[in-house]
Amino acid sequence: MNRIDPKLAATLRHPADLVERGLAKATDLADLERVAARYAVAVTSDIAGLIDTENPDDPIARQFIPSALELVSTPGENADPIGDDSHSPVAGIVHRYPDRVLFKLVHVCAVYCRFCFRREMVGPGKESALSETAYRNALDYIRGHKEIWEVILTGGDPLMLSPRRLAEIMADLAAIDHVKIIRIHTRVPVAAPARIDADMIEALRVGGATTWIAIHANHPRELSDAARTACARLAEAGIPLVSQTVLLRGVNDDAAVLEALMRAFVENRIKPYYLHHGDLAPGTAHLRTSIAEGQELMRRLRGRVSGLCQPEYVLDIPGGHGKAPIGPPYLSQANSQGCDPYQGETRYRVVDYCGDVHHYPPKP
Ligand code: SF4
Repeated sequence: MNRIDPKLAATLRHPADLVERGLAKATDLADLERVAARYAVAVTSDIAGLIDTENPDDPIARQFIPSALELVSTPGENADPIGDDSHSPVAGIVHRYPDRVLFKLVHVCAVYCRFCFRREMVGPGKESALSETAYRNALDYIRGHKEIWEVILTGGDPLMLSPRRLAEIMADLAAIDHVKIIRIHTRVPVAAPARIDADMIEALRVGGATTWIAIHANHPRELSDAARTACARLAEAGIPLVSQTVLLRGVNDDAAVLEALMRAFVENRIKPYYLHHGDLAPGTAHLRTSIAEGQELMRRLRGRVSGLCQPEYVLDIPGGHGKAPIGPPYLSQANSQGCDPYQGETRYRVVDYCGDVHHYPPKP
């Protein structure tokens, strides 16, 4: 069902190739082979070109070059960390919230992120795409549930499909009256920007529904010139763009890096949408921060950039209970002291962007 673009043939898929290109150490090869036997590896030439091989802590390498630490599982980690399976009524569909579904079309990606929350399901060797029967059953499910307003194409990466196949899928979905929004989550504009060509743009535009694209990037260097050109093509085709970023230790757990990333998104017509707290995917503890660190970063970001550049910091609650905003609180109820000049009106403590506390209503 899906055709993979031959342009991706230059992708590095084996630890030995990474060593040969100077992206991994020869002394680590045996460990990396063990990681690769369990979790998919792919580094496109675009991503390989962004890696600073002189820097042992390079934030791009940290996201894509496997590490022996991935073989260490910690308590609480789970093969299905956000509980997709418990909300899957038919193959390919996750129906967690009333008005929207995830539609998982493919299980392959242009690159494989070392922190991926679906790392047990994506990659070669896993089922590569829905069978035609499963696809038709999933469409029937969407058709039969009139409350579904938005279909979120995810995977894997839906932009790994050929433009021809993607156009068919977009048309099938847009033909369903109650489906008004088709949102596509993708890393392709960053990881393989040449795929965003005229055919792909044509496939993404469909009558009868509005296409939105959520672009996954975690470090400002990922928005290379080629990635910016790909995003511009999408924006100029009238497709609204939002971002999603995963908070990652050693990649973007730094206010200046997050600031640069959010500014770059906005400069490229991408509205910052989600900053995800790292999910409890197996072997990813070395890449996760604490929630307290995430909240402090969000506090600092608010003091540095405009509201246009603010993502929402969210946690996917393990067990399939959905997303919850977990940013720092700015408002709390103040305890009344002494006589009450407000005649029972609730007073609040509110924190400004500098961290200073004020009261609302203010003192007379
Ligand atoms: S592109 Fe998305 S689905 Fe694919 S490996 Fe990265 S995080 Fe996982």
